[in-house]
Amino acid sequence: MAAKDTYYLTTPIYYPNDIPHIGHGYTTVAADVLARWRRLRGDRVYFLTGTDEHGLNIVRAAEARGMTAQQHVDDINPRWHEVLDTLQVANDDFIRTTEQRHTSGVQSFMQRLYDNGDLYTATYSGPYCVRCEAYYTVEELIDGQLCPIHRRVVETLDQENWFFRLSKYAPDLLKLYDEHPEFVRPQSRMNEVRSFVAAGLDDISASRSAFEWGVAVPWEPGHVFYVWFDALLNYLTAAGYGSDEGDFQRRWPADVHLIGKDILRFHCVYWPAMLLAAGLAVPRQVFAHGFLLVGGEKMSKSNATGIRPAELVDHFGVDCYRYYFLREISFGQDGSFSWESMEARYTTDLANDLGNLANRVLNMVGSYCGGTVPEPAATAGGAESALAGGLGTAIEGMAAFDRLDFKKGLEDLWVGIGAVNRYVEARAPWKLHKQGASDELGRCLYTCVDALRAIAVLISPVMPDAAARLWAKLGLDEPLSGQRYPASVQPGLLPVGAEVHRGELLFPKLAE
Ligand SMILES: [Zn+2]
Repeated sequence: MAAKDTYYLTTPIYYPNDIPHIGHGYTTVAADVLARWRRLRGDRVYFLTGTDEHGLNIVRAAEARGMTAQQHVDDINPRWHEVLDTLQVANDDFIRTTEQRHTSGVQSFMQRLYDNGDLYTATYSGPYCVRCEAYYTVEELIDGQLCPIHRRVVETLDQENWFFRLSKYAPDLLKLYDEHPEFVRPQSRMNEVRSFVAAGLDDISASRSAFEWGVAVPWEPGHVFYVWFDALLNYLTAAGYGSDEGDFQRRWPADVHLIGKDILRFHCVYWPAMLLAAGLAVPRQVFAHGFLLVGGEKMSKSNATGIRPAELVDHFGVDCYRYYFLREISFGQDGSFSWESMEARYTTDLANDLGNLANRVLNMVGSYCGGTVPEPAATAGGAESALAGGLGTAIEGMAAFDRLDFKKGLEDLWVGIGAVNRYVEARAPWKLHKQGASDELGRCLYTCVDALRAIAVLISPVMPDAAARLWAKLGLDEPLSGQRYPASVQPGLLPVGAEVHRGELLFPKLAE
């Protein structure tokens, strides 16, 4: 039997009726950065995203358009692929829950729960948010009538359903949280989940009979599985569950599910309980990030804050988009977007600190050394060791990406970039050139270009496009994609004689 050898990470599957906004982009880019980071680390990676295409809301939206549900989801699916392209997301798979590999996997999984006696029938009546596809208790509603997530009036839904014996798994869940405190991150979210389970769990509805758009319950004609059971199971079915046992063994359990904190309960309570009931391993971690706020409000399609990723990419470029959110906001906390702060990050961090540095250094290699990386003839001195210290911080600091602390990793990377800028000022290669100190000049410019080489590798998970453009300027024979962390970012790996090209600015001045 194959053993797990793949770093498997996922985004939530997106709801196709939504218009993709920067909230969706946030999770997806973070996942892509993590995937690229693990590839740079040398891991085999399987990065999954997709769309959640069943449920009553889809049926209603399709009816309103005079389409079948299938036509409707087929018609709107491309907008999700467009966003992935716009944000340069390199996912390995995209699952749609209407695919056969998914529906058959859901049926075999749920059959297992049925055979184990974990599903039973009962009538349930209660407040139900169609948008969430979830029942709420009256206490959870805002003013006793609004969904706490969507702030819409809930309906009362009365159904004979199949129920999952969630309550039975409370002790196992508490044991999981105790033995694997890293299962839910950040810690505040683990505390929230733990107290929810410790207060006692009710069984949850696992099927619907009021409509047919879903995965059919094999033993009960006219019933479909509750869309959340169906949706969560995408993480298994895309990994090969029920279709390719070898793939599944190599990928499962998932290393991390990235989610927004609004779907914490589904991923940290229902999902591990379902897996325990089926006798399968639970994911190693669920990481819940915070909300993106615009003008103090949570991003959503129903208010004016629903900013499309393309609006920002058109103005700031994809590299800045990917950099900004991870640098500006601690991953796991709520954070605010503003146009002004994004502009400031572009100008200060990208155009000045990094773009100008590359431009200056490559310009000097062009003017003083005929565009060819010189021999580092003089011995390294105090200025070089100060620079090495800064770059060391950058290299070590990037390991914060292992724990999804992207902000810390980028802060440390910019310590390194700042150190190169200070080194250029301290050594003043234009003076060395004037003085005819060619050994010293060679040492200085070699050191600078060598640092740019390491920086290109280090920024590549976050800004793959800028990294590739910088790499191309350095005239290196080996491909950027073949570089690994940390082996490829050590000092002194730049070959003497590489032909550099100053070319266009890495981060040109923003349009007015
Ligand atoms: Zn809702």
